[in-house]
Amino acid sequence: MTDFAATKNMFFLPDGVIYLDGNSLGALPRAAVTRVEKTTRDEWGEMLITGWNKAGWMDQPTKIGDRIGRLIGAEAGHVAMGDTLSIKVYQALASALEMRPERRVILSDSGNFPTDLYMAEGLITSLGRQHQLKTPAPEAVMAHINEDVAVLMLTEVDYRTGRRHDMAALTRAAHAAGALVIWDLAHSAGAVPVDLAGVGADFAVGCSYKYLNGGPGAPAFIYVAPRHAENIRPALSGWLGHDAPFAFDLNYRPGAGIERMRVGTPPVLQMAALEAAMDIWDMVEMADVHAQSIMLCDQFIAGIEATCPALHLASPRAGRERGSQVSFHFEHGYAAMQALIARGVIGDFRAPDIMRFGFTPLYIDQGDVQAAIAIIADVMANRLWDQPEYKTKARVT
Ligand SMILES: *Cc1c(COP(=O)(O)O)cnc(C)c1O
Repeated sequence: MTDFAATKNMFFLPDGVIYLDGNSLGALPRAAVTRVEKTTRDEWGEMLITGWNKAGWMDQPTKIGDRIGRLIGAEAGHVAMGDTLSIKVYQALASALEMRPERRVILSDSGNFPTDLYMAEGLITSLGRQHQLKTPAPEAVMAHINEDVAVLMLTEVDYRTGRRHDMAALTRAAHAAGALVIWDLAHSAGAVPVDLAGVGADFAVGCSYKYLNGGPGAPAFIYVAPRHAENIRPALSGWLGHDAPFAFDLNYRPGAGIERMRVGTPPVLQMAALEAAMDIWDMVEMADVHAQSIMLCDQFIAGIEATCPALHLASPRAGRERGSQVSFHFEHGYAAMQALIARGVIGDFRAPDIMRFGFTPLYIDQGDVQAAIAIIADVMANRLWDQPEYKTKARVT
């Protein structure tokens, strides 16, 4: 059993804050502070360039990839870290489209995170081969799977509502139609159990700064199924994805397996912080995290519905059908969220009217949820959000 009291102690949270936004930016693992300091002083400082070998910097992307791989059901040796999630979406999609040269449709959904769709649009333009991006409603995706589809590219957990797609069923249907599948696990990794090998996903991508707690700007991950790993062409053919980067060949030759999805120099300091987070994840079972998350989310929904009639649930009511977040519609959601943040309850707002709260069992417990409900009830009952200072939108919402 995972000891959640122990994991909670391993995170720093400011006094007076109930942090319900770990779905957007995970909290700071206490050990990350000393880990980054040590990497900076003892490795960068003392070892200088020899750190690439001596301190193992060059191996970090696949070593950490494997530790994340355990949480998402990937086969060992098939996950690599690097770049940002937007870039990894592009890489996976470019490789997948090349594997289905005769097909023209990229099927996604209207609930996908915009950057995934933007990257697809940009790639379509660059390829100039009349690919078409289709974005039906999430519930209609299954009905749009047919033999025109080259790639089904979906985010498992909807970033606004928390609604989960049925990964196994959609992957099966896509494969039956001869299409490839890319799963974006941005809101799944560290939130819900994922079984990439079991469902037979072709590609998966995700970020490490949300539930995984790698810190702002932490690198993304990419997974390629073992059956494809040695065959795909990496569209972003950078030197660190080359078979022998230090041979400085003039011609590109892809590295072995997942190594070819690396592009350039890895962010060593950022990965030091992520390593500290992974030390905590290594102590955790995803099934326990999921059970605890459902309990906290159910407690939150019951408490809010009992005290805040103006808030309407936007997330699935059944725990198994949602990720680790709960969202409510409220016309004045932006102002209400600012009023909550001013009182120490940090969630976020997603246009047009969604108040979003993330539940991260590693550092949020039932006491936190109960305290948050009381503050939200007070803000709502007494219209504390109805103040001009809460209505001006900041750059990041
Ligand atoms: C958070 C998120 C992103 C962010 O992409 P970055 O390149 O890391 O900024 C992309 N896609 C999804 C589905 C997300 O939830």
